[in-house]
Amino acid sequence: MRSLLFSFVWLYALPLQAQVEAPKTEFADYLVAPVHVHRLITPGELNLTTTLTDQDLGEIFLQVNRIWGHAGIHFPIATLTTEAAAHPNAYRQNYRSRNLRWMLALRPQNTRTPNHFHIYYLKRFLANGVYIGPGGMFVKDMAKLWKVENGIEKPIPRVTSHELGHALTLKHRQEATNLMASGTSGWTLNETEIDQSRAAAQKLKWIRPAKEILEQADALYLEGKRPEAREQYRLIAGIPLHCPETTRAKIRLKPRP
Ligand SMILES: [Zn+2]
Repeated sequence: MRSLLFSFVWLYALPLQAQVEAPKTEFADYLVAPVHVHRLITPGELNLTTTLTDQDLGEIFLQVNRIWGHAGIHFPIATLTTEAAAHPNAYRQNYRSRNLRWMLALRPQNTRTPNHFHIYYLKRFLANGVYIGPGGMFVKDMAKLWKVENGIEKPIPRVTSHELGHALTLKHRQEATNLMASGTSGWTLNETEIDQSRAAAQKLKWIRPAKEILEQADALYLEGKRPEAREQYRLIAGIPLHCPETTRAKIRLKPRP
């Protein structure tokens, strides 16, 4: 009880600006795009070594999903891999280059799983983040943003969400409070951007409606295929909504005693 009270006091003390407004999208409208997150930890290469922990990345994606929830698109971390960058020499040879395509060489070959977006986290490079293709987005620990009114407090969730916007075909729109503005802490999407990103998501076969994933998970669960069911429930449990569907997913995710 004491700790509960304490946490309420703590929540109350947070400045309003730190919170992205909660989305109101209904479960039935959600599309789910699994993400493979890569923590680059490269021995002897500080720039190619992220300081973010698995837990940090979990919290980052809570924010990403609050932002993208407004468009009804959910980005669960389907896989999180910690690995060394491939070809670390590429960094020394190219780090001053404005064309960031060289960064694709940093991706280890054997973890480029199909049917996911891939985001690589590292300490430092020339931009805050870059989208090169669905299989190559990069975000740096040192990202810094221009603060705008009602902007998000932390840069990394914003940069991650921005690159995912490019992955769903969005272009830059230089209005400071917009997610697709360059280098600001803005996080909003307008109706056109919501429609466009949803249309792009619907074109990709591996991005599925949350409803369809839940049906598959329930069927697997009833067949007694618990690990397979859990894999599906995990994709939808983090949708930022309190509803029977996400509650069931959360309960059935827990391993039985
Ligand atoms: Zn951009």
